[in-house]
Amino acid sequence: MRIKSIRGVKDILPDEIAKWQWTEDWARKIFRRYGFKEIRIPIFEDSRLFSRGLGETTDVVEKEMYTFADRSGDSLTLRPEGTASVVRSYVEHKMHHPPSVVKLYYMGPMFRYERPQAGRFRQFYQIGVEAMGSASPTVDAEVMCMLVDFFKTLGLPDVELQINSLGDKESRPQYRKILQNAIEPHLNNLCANCNQRYEKNPLRVLDCKEAQCKEIARDLPKTVEHLNPESREHFEEVQTLLKAAGISFAINPLMVRGLDYYSRTTFEITSSELGAQNALCGGGRYDYLVETFDGPPTPCFGFALGMERLVSVIKPGLDLETADRPDLYIVSLGDKARQASFNIAGELRSKGLIVERDYDGSSLKSQMRKANQKNCRFALIIGDNELESGKLVLKNMVESEQTEIPLDSFSDEILKIAVPAS
Ligand code: AMP
Repeated sequence: MRIKSIRGVKDILPDEIAKWQWTEDWARKIFRRYGFKEIRIPIFEDSRLFSRGLGETTDVVEKEMYTFADRSGDSLTLRPEGTASVVRSYVEHKMHHPPSVVKLYYMGPMFRYERPQAGRFRQFYQIGVEAMGSASPTVDAEVMCMLVDFFKTLGLPDVELQINSLGDKESRPQYRKILQNAIEPHLNNLCANCNQRYEKNPLRVLDCKEAQCKEIARDLPKTVEHLNPESREHFEEVQTLLKAAGISFAINPLMVRGLDYYSRTTFEITSSELGAQNALCGGGRYDYLVETFDGPPTPCFGFALGMERLVSVIKPGLDLETADRPDLYIVSLGDKARQASFNIAGELRSKGLIVERDYDGSSLKSQMRKANQKNCRFALIIGDNELESGKLVLKNMVESEQTEIPLDSFSDEILKIAVPAS
């Protein structure tokens, strides 16, 4: 039986990879401009990290985690998201000393046992950003600006930024009661999930996707209507800063996000080019999570974006199409030529050229065909005769012109003609 990849898990094939790398390279460049540094967090962690960090009653913890016992019986979980791990690392490595805003980003695969469909996978890649150590609304606005900056650089068509505020630990319990009271009369008309949410996590009723729940949610009291003065001021300042930066946004009072750790500002960016799963990224403030893991009070703001969805909507330019194009194909004819081409290839690569070559001693015609298939810019033809006469032949594959290259200074001569494309 042929073994296939697991449902909801896919290969990212070499033909697609240039787009991924291009996107990741831009993320690194732009995040660096804002002072963010990369952190590499483990793929698996102690299961309690996620149940405690994300909230026992969240969909991710209740239904979607890949949790298993290792050989010593410890419960481990493949990371379903990155924030909890970053917070653990922040506390474990005492990054709060000396006090400053610690700005980190990560990239890599996440794992959730979700129902696979277009744009939703069981292994998917995220780029995430966490700014830790400031409660200033400037951080919220700056991180969202950075993201918009990033998306603009990628030439992303039509994206929409939606923001909301969930209030803080003072205003949330009061609002929760108000919300539960308002939900109670509708329980018979809400879906089974929302009936459970009513008890455990009533805010999630607001963003239920079921039609009957959506209709009821429209008239339920919203978090933004029940903010205390500090949270209201914070939210207003974020809006003022976004406007000053020329970033358009809409307030979506029904957006509560799926994880429990959010407080105050939350946001989501959607793309009209995506289908039902139209969220490109989401995030917000999580001012209390560091304390949950026994760290000092550390207000934070972050987001995570989905790479599969992002890569499916970007339209990179020509520079990307030619990024991996080989500069040169070495056609070698005869045993001596094949041996010599080993060192010739090495030297050209050391000068920065992307060099492909023949390995199996096929005919001139077949090697030239391969050079064409690989879209090489030049072919360098080396035969035993060429070695003896001390002259190699460089063929421009686009213009079909040939130039003789002296063997004793081949790399300098070739570089003059075929300057590295990358
Ligand atoms: P979250 O961590 O749930 O806030 O998700 C942040 C972003 O990750 C979303 O906006 C999506 O772009 C992406 N994402 C989340 N879950 C999946 C999934 N199962 N498959 C693909 N992308 C996902």
